[in-house]
Amino acid sequence: MAKDYYQTLGVEKNASKEEIKKAYKKLAKQYHPDLNKSSEAQEKFKEINEAASVLGDEKKRAQYDKFGTTEGMGGFQGGFSGMGEGFGFEDIFESFFGDVFGGGRRRGPERGGDLRFDLEITLEEAASGIMKSVVIPKLVGCDHCHGKGAESESDIKTCATCHGRGIVQESRRTPFGIFQQTTTCKTCRGEGKSIERPCNICDGDGRVQKNKKLDINIPEGVEDGTKLRISGEGEAGERGSSPGDLYVVVHVKEHDVFEREGNDILIEVPLTFGQAALGDEVEVPTLEGKATLKIPAGTQPGTVFRMKSKGIPYLRGYGRGDEMVTVQVQIPTKLSKEQRELIEKFEGMLKKKKNIFGF
Ligand SMILES: [Zn+2]
Ligand SMILES: [Zn+2]
Repeated sequence: MAKDYYQTLGVEKNASKEEIKKAYKKLAKQYHPDLNKSSEAQEKFKEINEAASVLGDEKKRAQYDKFGTTEGMGGFQGGFSGMGEGFGFEDIFESFFGDVFGGGRRRGPERGGDLRFDLEITLEEAASGIMKSVVIPKLVGCDHCHGKGAESESDIKTCATCHGRGIVQESRRTPFGIFQQTTTCKTCRGEGKSIERPCNICDGDGRVQKNKKLDINIPEGVEDGTKLRISGEGEAGERGSSPGDLYVVVHVKEHDVFEREGNDILIEVPLTFGQAALGDEVEVPTLEGKATLKIPAGTQPGTVFRMKSKGIPYLRGYGRGDEMVTVQVQIPTKLSKEQRELIEKFEGMLKKKKNIFGF
């Protein structure tokens, strides 16, 4: 039975990268052999790292979710023990999550979080595309300190511990000799500077909660569930670091008349018996007003007519779908005396020729 990496990290199967990262950090701190001298800590630490190396990597995680293993993908396979014990967990953390989470060796203020915004539109709007103005509550850069987090420019000092580099060299004495190791500066947490008086509006965070008005361009052809990524419109980052992204999830409302099938739209149109038998021109609603549809004489109930290019445009590409019109022939339920007589006469004429079974 394969190991359950989610259980190892104590996260749900659908945990976000952030949640995995957080869970890993917490456990790694708890079980790092430098910090935890209990006998099972080392084994546990190995397991946590193995789980994180898989779940922290999108490709490996997808493979693991699908097949329950990462074998054949250059998976983890015990590589951690070869890294030696001179590494701080931050370093290991970086080697797993570095690319995935966009962190570097020098750790600065945190990038802003991604945001999700759910937006409901009509089918017509999905077909034509539309600009929507929305108001999104989110963290934005603080105006008072221009996102820097300091009360004034002169309150920003170069970190005395690392001299602004954000990293420090440390020597570690081990039974095998002295090792040089680079770690994030603890004084400034890798930012390279310290703030003497934090901004009194944002408390040094560099950002404040606000309602931000945004114009969102919904391209033509979106469907229910389409996710639009708006780069940089997520939450502002800590002290001027890069912002997150905004994901707009589009919901297309059910339409009263039309049904959507891919890029085609479907509609049912009622015809009288006479229209179906004799042929006619009828007005059919489309996404852009009415259009005329020619009904040939002798049209059968349930016949589907294709109105070319009256459907929904392709989101990425040219052209658009069609409108498929299904005709329903309506049989009258109430007849006047005269109507009844006319139909009877009509039926009588048919019967003289043949009955419905042809004899
Ligand atoms: Zn420093
Ligand atoms: Zn501020």
